[in-house]
Amino acid sequence: MKRKGILVVVSGFSGAGKGTLMKNLIKKYDNYALSISMTTRMPREGEMDGREYFFVSKETFEEKAKQGGLVEYACYCDNYYGTPREYVEAQLEMGKDVILEIEIQGALKIKEKFPSALLLFVMPPSANQLRDRLAGRGTETQEVIDKRLRRAAEEAEGIESYDYIVINDDLEVCTKELHSIIFAAHNAVDRNEGFIENMRQELNVLVKGEK
Ligand code: 5GP
Repeated sequence: MKRKGILVVVSGFSGAGKGTLMKNLIKKYDNYALSISMTTRMPREGEMDGREYFFVSKETFEEKAKQGGLVEYACYCDNYYGTPREYVEAQLEMGKDVILEIEIQGALKIKEKFPSALLLFVMPPSANQLRDRLAGRGTETQEVIDKRLRRAAEEAEGIESYDYIVINDDLEVCTKELHSIIFAAHNAVDRNEGFIENMRQELNVLVKGEK
């Protein structure tokens, strides 16, 4: 039986360490493909076009969305972010588990369009640690940090829409946990309906042959 890829949505508060976690997951295990989003926000220091994001103008983004080239998109803290369609579809077809590191509005749209998507939410061990991590990054102004904390408080209200939470305290432990959840999800009954139906039919044939 050909193993089908799962669409895995990973959300979490800005500063929860999702980016590092995703990079580690991809490095440790080879069945993942990380989707690179398109955004209208400016690159941060150290970010490269085509690696962290495809950095584009508002016009280019809107054009891509209009052409149906994005699986989902959302506006987050005054910027657009969206998931390019082509890569996601090709990787799923190849049996890869495709990771979308996206915020909650996008996650909900994915769940609507792809009911068998797996939704994971990464949390810091405490709210204070989140604040410290955001400040420690040193790339954001106080105004942006405050905005992201307010946004985190709003997002916390939507966690019940997700399937699992993962607490990012220790990077290695968290990476393993994330992988285990995705690994187990492949065996969920509703992701194996074809196999189960086939088994039923084969069993029926065997049972009839017995008579
Ligand atoms: P940042 O500016 O910190 O890189 O990302 C801000 C937020 O946008 C994060 O919560 C991130 O997960 C989310 N994000 C990144 N790419 C996408 C995307 O393609 N679609 C949506 N809906 N959110 C995204």
